[in-house]
This record gives sequence, C-alpha cells and structure tokens, in this order.
Amino acid sequence: MSSPPKRAVVIGAGLGGLGVALRLAAQGWQVDIHEQAATAGGKMNRWTAEGYRFDTGPSLITMPWVFEELFAAAGSSLSNHLTLHRVEPIASYHYDDGTHFVHTGCLPDWLPTVRKLEGGDASGFLAFMALGAKLFNVSQATFFKRSPFEPPDRDSGRALRDMPLRRGWGNYARTLQHYIRSPHLRQLFNRYMTYVGSSPYQAPATLAVIPFVEYAFGGWHVQGGLYRIVEALLALGEERGVRCHLNSAVTGITRKQQRITGVQLVNGEVVQADAVIMNGDASWTDTLLGRPGAQPLPEAKRSLSGLIFLFGLKSTRPDQPHHQVFFSADYQTEFRQLFDERRFPDDPTVYINMPSRSDRSMVPETGEVMFVMANAPANEQDAWDGAMIAEARARVFNRLSRSGFPDIRADVAVSNVWTPKNIAQRYAMPGGAIYGQVSHGWRGAFLRPANRSKRWPGLYYVGGSTHPGGGTPTVLMSADITARLVVQHES
Ligand SMILES: Cc1cc2nc3c(=O)[nH]c(=O)nc-3n(C[C@H](O)[C@H](O)[C@H](O)COP(=O)(O)OP(=O)(O)OC[C@H]3O[C@@H](n4cnc5c(N)ncnc54)[C@H](O)[C@@H]3O)c2cc1C
Repeated sequence: MSSPPKRAVVIGAGLGGLGVALRLAAQGWQVDIHEQAATAGGKMNRWTAEGYRFDTGPSLITMPWVFEELFAAAGSSLSNHLTLHRVEPIASYHYDDGTHFVHTGCLPDWLPTVRKLEGGDASGFLAFMALGAKLFNVSQATFFKRSPFEPPDRDSGRALRDMPLRRGWGNYARTLQHYIRSPHLRQLFNRYMTYVGSSPYQAPATLAVIPFVEYAFGGWHVQGGLYRIVEALLALGEERGVRCHLNSAVTGITRKQQRITGVQLVNGEVVQADAVIMNGDASWTDTLLGRPGAQPLPEAKRSLSGLIFLFGLKSTRPDQPHHQVFFSADYQTEFRQLFDERRFPDDPTVYINMPSRSDRSMVPETGEVMFVMANAPANEQDAWDGAMIAEARARVFNRLSRSGFPDIRADVAVSNVWTPKNIAQRYAMPGGAIYGQVSHGWRGAFLRPANRSKRWPGLYYVGGSTHPGGGTPTVLMSADITARLVVQHES
C-alpha cells in the first residue's frame, strides 16, 4: 500500500509561492497555498481600466530560462503558455545636462556610444562586462543554485575557486569607477543596484552580475503583460492539483515543541502540514509563531520602495520607446536622501515603461499605457496622503519636463497611483520594501534568511526575502532551492 502524499502549506501566492507549489506538486506533494489577498501573484500584479492593461509591479524579466525551467519541472513548456519578446533597444537614457542616448544590446551599435562617452576607448566597458560574466559563471553553480547555509557540494566548491576576488568583493560604485570614466555611463550602471532596491554606493561589487545578465541575455516582455505569467502558473498548478485559497490569510504557524505542524487561518481553521513554506516577508515569521517581542524588518535593513503612477493615454505615441530613464542631476544626493535622510528625493530619477509600444494588446484601439516609477524609502510613518502624493508627483513631473518629456496631462484617460503605503498593505511588506532586506555590504546581499529553518524543523522560506533575493528570476531560483530542500528533508 502506498503512503499518502506529503502535505505542504505555502503562505502567500507570490511568484515564489506559486513556483515552489508547482515544483512540489510535480513531485507528488499535496500543496495548498493560502493567500491573504483577493488575487494571486503578490507584487506581480495588474490593474485594468477601460481597456488599458497595466502591470503594476515588474515591467521586465531577465534570465528567461529560469521561467522555462519551472514550466519544464512541472512537465510542461513555457512556450505552451506564454510568448516572450526581447525588448531591444534596452532603454533610452536622458541626463540633466541634455545628453541623450539609446542603450542597445547590439554590441556593434553600442560600442560607438561607449567610445564617444569614454573618450575613444571601450575597453573599460568590456572589462566590466567580463567581470560580470565571471561572477555570473560562479553564481550559476553557487549563489543561484544553493542556500549558503547548506554544506557546499563538489560543483559549488570548484566554482568558488574562480571567484574574481580582487574586483568582486569591493564596493559596487567604486569598482565601477575603476572600469568606467564617463559620468553618464557611471550613472547608467549605478542604476542597476536599484534592481535589488539598493544603493550603488553601499552595494557589493559582486552585484556587477546584474548589468551583465541584462546586457548578455536581454530584458523581456511577456505578450499581454507580465501578469500572464501568474495566470499561466495558476492554471498549470491547478492541473497538477495545487489548491490556491484566496482571501485566506494565515494568522499563525502551529508547532509541537520545535516541530512545525501546520498553520492557522483567519477563519480559525487549523491546517496540518508536513512542511510550511513562508512566501510572505520572512521577518513576519516570528509574529506568526507567536514569539514574544517579534518585530518586522527594521527600517535600516529595508530595500527601496517605490512611487508609481499609471496613466492610460488617449493618443498613440510612436515617438516614445518601450523603456526610458530620466536621471536626476545628482545621483549621490538622491541616494543620500533615500537611505540616510529617508525621504522622497527632491530630484528623483524617473523610469517610464510603455509596454504598449511593443505590445498593442495592452491598450484599447489607440493610446498607450504608461508606468512611471521613482524610488522611495520604505518608511513606516510616511503618510502618503493627498498632499504628500501631490508634492512627490510635482517633483516627478518637474524632472520629466526638465528632461524634455512631453506634457501628457491633457491626454490621460485613466490613472492610478501606488505608494509605499499601498505596497506595504497590499503585499504585507514592511514599509513597502519591494526587495525585502537591502543588499548593502556583503552580509546584506548574501546572508539573507535561510531557505530552511534550522531552529524550526518543517519551516521553509521562499521569495524575495530569502536567498537568493528579490527580482522575478531570483525568486524562482529560490523556489527551486526551497523545493529541493523540502523534498530532501521531509520526504
Ligand atoms: C513596482 C515594482 C516593480 C518591480 N519591478 C521588477 C522588474 O522590473 N523586474 C523584476 O524581476 N522584478 C521586479 N519587481 C520585484 C518582483 O515583483 C518581486 O521580487 C517578486 O514578484 C516577489 O515575489 P515573492 O515570491 O517574493 O512574493 P511577493 O510578491 O512578495 O508575494 C508574497 C505574497 O504573500 C502574501 N502574504 C504575506 N503574508 C501572508 C499571510 N500571513 N497570509 C497569507 N498571505 C500572505 C502577500 O499578500 C503576497 O501576495 C518589482 C516589484 C514592484 C512592486
């Protein structure tokens, strides 16, 4: 007689939660996801109005093979569910001094721009990419595949010997300065640290892997919007027997002494499980375990939040690219205001994503969808009331008009705003920190809460707040690491 399937409960239907559920179900586990919100996907969320379709979270995915591996692990194929388009050129960049250029992933087109900015010599850029490539190779066998808290295997031990120690362990901005002379290119490459909600002036140089990955493997849009990924994972999960319970907040994690036994739901029901996997922010776990003095992630350890405006435009704008960035005049001041003074910057760098430039299914017959984002601190006390939003909005539009972006105000058909406060409430993220713990210093970037709790047998973590960190491909890597640990320790 075969034994009954093992049971897992996943707390939260974010991308990491959906990923781990699918991987475990594919290995014969019975999996229930309990999500507090009315929709699945967590920060990979959407908003629709009058035929305009907006992704309210991620606007670009990288490392598409990580997504392909998940579908394959569940016995399917990504191409059966989704169509990915490479966004090329990568982005247009606009600077306060009027400089403007297009960043393309096509090396023969990009090198003349680099040479012009670097005084005739592109070797620094190429060396910086070579550093990223080395770090990528090491990460593939170590950081991306395994929890640093598990004993290393032969492959990871061997890969670590190739770690570029000299340039890999310093400070990111200083290392970049070693390779790149142009202040414009420095600002461009420094911005990649915001992909993990961090400051380039405090992040470790090891994260030079991020610009390399985008340059080498591209940034990708999903036809119909990135939320299609969530829909596809939900549908495939349902086929594999995953049950996703919405409006079903977990209010407690149950245990017998140290051993985790299940969860308690908001309706009072207790659900037994062999493994409980936390996809919400890891810092809430002590609260769910009922431990005295439990505190969410402290402000000083939080990654950036964001202020996002969504505009559905009436007119079609063929003059605008898919991605563009409007840089502040002084990047160091901007990050000092964000992290040290913990306030919305006087002069924010503004990112605009117009996916409808590449994908007309995002809009009604005419028009554009426009996602406008500026970084903001993940503070507890900021009111983000009408007055605060109006002030921040004025700074965002001031930056756009100084950089020559057209005045779109009379052209707006629908609009919406997301503040750090909404993000905090909707996704249960302390202060609305988008990427969990900030990646400052070596410890912040690499020693995040472990994927498996050693203190509480049966308790696991998945998603942006655990290893290897935030961002869509990395949370799916965490789903892979965590599913393997669950099977290894609980089967
Ligand atoms: C504005 C914005 C822009 C972004 N841009 C990009 C981008 O361009 N590229 C990229 O790769 N990434 C980007 N990201 C980051 C990316 O969205 C996240 O890293 C990723 O989606 C996080 O997934 P996760 O698994 O950590 O889960 P989350 O999305 O954090 O979801 C966790 C889920 O758990 C639920 N939950 C929490 N506590 C409980 C509880 N007690 N009971 C039940 N449910 C609970 C929450 O409601 C939530 O649904 C962006 C994010 C935002 C918000």
